[in-house]
Amino acid sequence: MTDERHEAQAAGASTRAVHASRAEAPTAPFGDPIYQVAAFTFPSVAASDAVFGGSAPGHVYTRFGNPNTDGLARGVAALEAAPAGAAFASGMAAITCLILAACGPGDHVVAQADAYGGTRHLLADELSRLGIAASFADVPEVAAFAAACRPNTRLFLVETVSNPLLRVADIEGLAALAHERGARLLVDNTFTTPCLYQPLKAGADAVLHSATKYLGGHGDVTAGVAAGPDELIDRAKKIGIGLGLSLDAFSAWLACRGMKTLALRMERSSANAARCAAHLAAHPAVAQTFYPGLDRHPDHERARRMLGDTFGAMVSFTLRGGLAAVERFLAGARLIRFVPSLGDVSTTVTHPASTSHRALSAEERRRMGIDDGLLRLSVGIEDLSDILADLDAALAG
Ligand SMILES: *Cc1c(COP(=O)(O)O)cnc(C)c1O
Repeated sequence: MTDERHEAQAAGASTRAVHASRAEAPTAPFGDPIYQVAAFTFPSVAASDAVFGGSAPGHVYTRFGNPNTDGLARGVAALEAAPAGAAFASGMAAITCLILAACGPGDHVVAQADAYGGTRHLLADELSRLGIAASFADVPEVAAFAAACRPNTRLFLVETVSNPLLRVADIEGLAALAHERGARLLVDNTFTTPCLYQPLKAGADAVLHSATKYLGGHGDVTAGVAAGPDELIDRAKKIGIGLGLSLDAFSAWLACRGMKTLALRMERSSANAARCAAHLAAHPAVAQTFYPGLDRHPDHERARRMLGDTFGAMVSFTLRGGLAAVERFLAGARLIRFVPSLGDVSTTVTHPASTSHRALSAEERRRMGIDDGLLRLSVGIEDLSDILADLDAALAG
């Protein structure tokens, strides 16, 4: 027994209650321990000063960084082949901090009109109040972005694959245009993950993910990550610390654990999705199927050039019969659950018109091609035969 333990046992009940369970690990743990602590301790002012000052490695206070959040940041930087990575409390926190790192008052952002709803709201309603203006380009095409540019445009924000119609952005073309106009290209790579596509290699300046989706992969964590050059990521990280948008240790640990199987999950779920898309496209109850792997998808050729033959695990489809058909589909499904998220190991489905796109008017949705009968399927890693059987049961419902 160490002297410290002797002291603790000789101490009063309250002191023992606080200190007696504390242990120094006699052996190094294999796997990642969870550093579920708010702060770290130092043997001296000199040691603390060195870590605070950045001349020695270590951690100070979890909001500034923690071994678990650092692990997640290293992981995403490695996957995206980026010099630096950072972890945030959510995908929206990552987007907020990256935009604030790249733009200030008087600057202008161009984003795609069909951007994630939270991103649109952030730009249109919140950052506009801070003097950061935004325009929305109708399609994620280079010409539409060029037309939306202003002399003060500092940032393009695009999603590799959009929601819910799964349009594929020309990342190389957009990066070239951004750089020609003195702007940076920020890519939301949530739907594709670095296993399918690495935007930085195509010229993007920074990339981000809602790790709530595929990186975490098990529907049990809310987290965001960013990767890119040291200077931009350091700036975004500092903004996150200042705004209190840091990730907690346990969520970081869950996301890291999820990332270990990311490649396997993407391979399996994408293969399942390709088969589901073909099945849905041939089904009489389905009016239209949206999947970049289908020949008839408007971005199929670009998707093939960018993604090879793995087109991701998201499939959208429009049921004949609108909302009533959607309700029958949901009532008939057993395995496939209605969940307003994506990227889980389970196959889930969501209804964009009443969830992600409910803030738009019926006319705006119609113009974007979002029918009341549209469903967005996030295909999981279950046995393909079971997913197809459940789709058939739901479509017969
Ligand atoms: C979910 C999502 C976000 C937001 O992420 P949160 O973790 O919910 O904050 C951003 N972009 C895309 C494409 C998403 O799917």
